[in-house]
Amino acid sequence: MKFCPECGKPLAHAFIDGRPRKVCPDSLCGYIYWNNPTPVVAGVVEWNGGVILVRSRGWPQRFFGIVAGFLEAGETPEEGILREVAEELGLTGRIVDFLGHYDFPEKNQTIAAFHVRAEGTLVLGHEIAEAKVLPPEQVKPWNAGTGPAVKEFLRRRTKGDAMEKRVVSPGEQLVFALYVRDVETSCRFFQDLGFHVSRRDGPFAELRWEDSLLFVVERHELSPPAQPVGNIRVMVSDVDAVYKKVQELGYAIVTPLEDRYYGLRDFIIKGPDGVDVRFAAPLSTATKEGEAESAPVCGKASTHPTSTPQRSNDPHRKG
Ligand SMILES: [Zn+2]
Repeated sequence: MKFCPECGKPLAHAFIDGRPRKVCPDSLCGYIYWNNPTPVVAGVVEWNGGVILVRSRGWPQRFFGIVAGFLEAGETPEEGILREVAEELGLTGRIVDFLGHYDFPEKNQTIAAFHVRAEGTLVLGHEIAEAKVLPPEQVKPWNAGTGPAVKEFLRRRTKGDAMEKRVVSPGEQLVFALYVRDVETSCRFFQDLGFHVSRRDGPFAELRWEDSLLFVVERHELSPPAQPVGNIRVMVSDVDAVYKKVQELGYAIVTPLEDRYYGLRDFIIKGPDGVDVRFAAPLSTATKEGEAESAPVCGKASTHPTSTPQRSNDPHRKG
């Protein structure tokens, strides 16, 4: 960009927010070319047991990449990639997994990549010159662009084939069963803190926090440990409010509320059976308004919609 899209004057160079920018020299105009990256969606599309690679019109004969495209206004990335799959391949897709966000500085793009499974008959859209379907193990990822997304797809595939297929949902896995002297007292304690009792069965109680489980089992013959043996961490959005609540309820604070070097703001209270409870929030959200050291940058691109890079950038490069 050479000229101000607002007033037409030649743009000058300036340093803003620690980066070199092009700015309009007219102080009344004040236009800044932010050069924000353009979001692109990409999909590793599995179809008939293979991965579909496409060659866009105008690409060299040997250039094949995964399906990719720009978002339309008002679309979520998920909607965007499924629309691209329909437009470019004529297939009906569904999202299997989110693969990751990838920076593509060469094209000033940021890529959101998905693993998509598709069904239907392959009908190429007008932007696509050619398509091929490869067995996943024959797909060779590029080093840039959508390449890292393809690598991630292949990595997960190998991992899944090997051993790490999930047996149950994450909340059902690694459930801790806490031995307590009195199941009623423990249920009341955890309920006070905000747990829900989802099952009660004699000496047994099942407690829930969001999708996670905690079992409580009455073993009144056991004596409580002299020292705490561990703590259960609960992540909350407003840790200051929880701190106030547990103090009002009169539970013993083991470690007071404080910002920690590991990026959390947390505190610990004493549990009745040797297992303490720690409430925590990420430091960025736990910081009270007004205490925030750096205000979030907002509306940069939207203040100057004309600064959005033009559609001539081809997102398909280096798939
Ligand atoms: Zn201007």
